[in-house]
Order: sequence, then structure tokens, then C-alpha cells
Amino acid sequence: MSDRHRDVAHRATTGFQTAYGEAPAGRWAAPGRVNLIGEHTDYNDGFVLPFALPLRTVAAAATQADDAWTVWSELTGETVAFGADEVAAPGRVTGWGAYVAGVVWALREAGHRVPGARLAIASDVPLGAGLSSSAALEAAVLTALVDLGGLNLPAEDQPRLAQRAENHYVGAPTGIMDQSATIRCRTGHALFLDCRSEQVEHIPFDLARTGLAVLVIDSRAPHRHADGEYAARRATCERAAGLLGVPALRDVPASELDDALARLPDDETRRRVRHVVTEDQRVLETVALLRDGRIRRIGGLLTASHASMRDDFAITVPEVDTAVEAALAAGALGARMTGGGFGGCVLALVDAADADQVAAAVTTAYAQRGFTAPDHLTVTPSTGATRLP
Ligand code: ADP
Ligand code: MG
Repeated sequence: MSDRHRDVAHRATTGFQTAYGEAPAGRWAAPGRVNLIGEHTDYNDGFVLPFALPLRTVAAAATQADDAWTVWSELTGETVAFGADEVAAPGRVTGWGAYVAGVVWALREAGHRVPGARLAIASDVPLGAGLSSSAALEAAVLTALVDLGGLNLPAEDQPRLAQRAENHYVGAPTGIMDQSATIRCRTGHALFLDCRSEQVEHIPFDLARTGLAVLVIDSRAPHRHADGEYAARRATCERAAGLLGVPALRDVPASELDDALARLPDDETRRRVRHVVTEDQRVLETVALLRDGRIRRIGGLLTASHASMRDDFAITVPEVDTAVEAALAAGALGARMTGGGFGGCVLALVDAADADQVAAAVTTAYAQRGFTAPDHLTVTPSTGATRLP
């Protein structure tokens, strides 16, 4: 366990002791994630390839009397308490406590006998940066409750339950990627997820062994109209699938893309479809290269993904384009925006020895354009949700 993990675990433990006057029964950690490649493919029934970050949310927890749940978070300094009435239906706990109440609600709805529990949450996953602090919170709480209650809920069924909590209790319409990543990722691997079948495969992505690193740069761009634009892209994709007579754009083979485009009514729709179909193909090509151990070769696919998001899907903003251009000019092997767009993070594949220089180049480019200075960190593929020793 690195010092950083010990730190956040330690903060959850001392938070528990301060809030409840006793030691927790255990601690459960769940990571944030980035998506290596595969953007806006999830709701088109396609492919994504996330990996877990070394940043985690930790829940220190112990059982208490039935049908009573109390949760403290270091982040807000607040304690939220709720009982059986509040988890009988969505909407009764709001704010950040809804992510916790939603997990209890979803477990009970699936027929599990959820133990009452006290929880204390600490995290070093930044909130709202697109690194999925929400799924990390859900997964830390879920795995704690599953273990404390001895519930029969295998890991492969946990992502869908956490997704139900977020979709129906919190009311955020997310796909299955974030919860799958935080629960199922493995150290040194990326998670190849088929969003239609929800099948996963662990793909070797051992950066450290090859002298490479992934630099994650928080663009700090204000999210501009992200929700409305997301809904618009989604609607366009669904309409296009209907026009093409397929259940989802995933069903348009890359080899038949030109024919499909010729059947669409306007240039904007054609560009949106081209992004989704070529992006699925880039995920498959990335997986093939990683299976062969040719990690350096994926750089070009990452950069092509960015160009497709910028030119065809129109979801980038000047900050992320600047970060990608500066990273490439400073020697990155590939770089792209990661996440839904209109801000969020950029990732760059770099020789580990170049990481500082690439980060510095991005900071300089930002300063020249008068943007808020970006944050960055170097990451390696880490473990999914786990009980800490
Ligand atoms: P992202 O998942 O990209 O970080 P979201 O908007 O999906 O962004 O989720 C962020 C929300 O999750 C926060 O506003 C907060 O309500 C909740 N959350 C995440 N982590 C914590 C935490 N450690 N303590 C309290 N609330 C948290
Ligand atoms: Mg989220």
C-alpha cells in the first residue's frame, strides 16, 4: 500500500473514530478511473477501455442496529442519517447522501437483507473532474455492506446494482462503465468492456514494465452546457441508428461505414456517426495492440480519437485541445480528451522520463492563452474495489 493509500485509509479510520467513538470493523477502498479510449460509445452499445487510478475513496464501516444507516464524509464534514422509510423509494435522501442511500435502496430492492451500518468516507478522487468519484463512493459503500452483511452478490453483479443506485435513486443517467471500472479493474490491466453484453476482459496494460506512463491533466475548463450537449449527441445517435435500421450504432461495421454515411440525411449526422463507428474500431485496435504487448503503438489511436471528438463529434473545448497539442509537441506518444467532453481531463501516453517535461509544456501553453493553470498527475493502472487489510 502506497503512502497515499495509507493516508486516505487512515483519514477514514480516524474520521470513523471521531464520529462514532469506536473503531471501524473494516475499511473498503474503491478507485477513480480514466477511460483510455472509447468515448460516447457506451450508449451506442459499443466498447470502452477504462483503467483504475491510484486515487481512491475509502469507507471505514461497522454494523449497527437494523434499518439504520449513518454516514460521515470528510469532504463535507457532515453526517447524514437515514432509516427504512428513506430507502423505501428514491428521492427521500438528497445531496451527496443520495449516493449512499441509493446503494442501500438498490440492495434492498434486489432482495438483500442489508445490515444497518455506520460509515466514514475519505477520498482523494477529485469531485466532478470526470474521474468518477461518484462510482468510487458507491462502490466503497457497496462492497462494505456486502462484506459486513455476508450478502450473496458476486463482483460481476455489483456494477449493475451500483448503476441502478445512481440512475434511479440519485437520478443521474450514467452508463455501466464507471461502476464496472471501479469494481472490476485489476492492477496492471485495462478493462475491456462490451457495453451491450456487459462482459469484461482484463487486458494487460503494464506501463511500469515498459518505461511508459500516463499523464492525466485536469483541464480545469468550466463545464459548458455539458448536460444539454450530451443529450443532443445521444439523441442524434439514436435517430441515426433508427434511420440505418440497426438497434444501435455498434451494429454498423467499420467496413460498411461509407455505405451507411451515404444513407444519412445531413453532414452533422454523418460526422456524429463516423465518430462512433471509428471510435469503436479504435478501441478494438487498441485492445489488439495491448494483447500483443505493443503499448507504444497505441499512441496514434489515442490522438486519432481526440481528432474525431474535436472534428466529428464536436465535444472538445479550447482548453483540452490546447493540452493535447502541447503534450504532443513536447513528445507525448499520443494524447486525447477522456470523458464525456466540454472540459474534464486529458490523458497523454508518455515515456516515463518525459512526464515532467510534457506536463510543464502544457502548463506553459495554458499560461500563454490565459487559461487557469491545469492540475496533473502520473498514474498507473491500479486495483478495483477491495477490502483493505
Ligand atoms: P464525478 O463522478 O465525475 O466525480 P459526479 O457529478 O458524477 O462527478 O459525482 C460527484 C458527486 O458525488 C459529488 O457532487 C458528491 O455529491 C458525490 N461524492 C463523490 N465523492 C464523495 C465523497 N467522498 N464525499 C461526499 N460526496 C461525494
Ligand atoms: Mg460520476
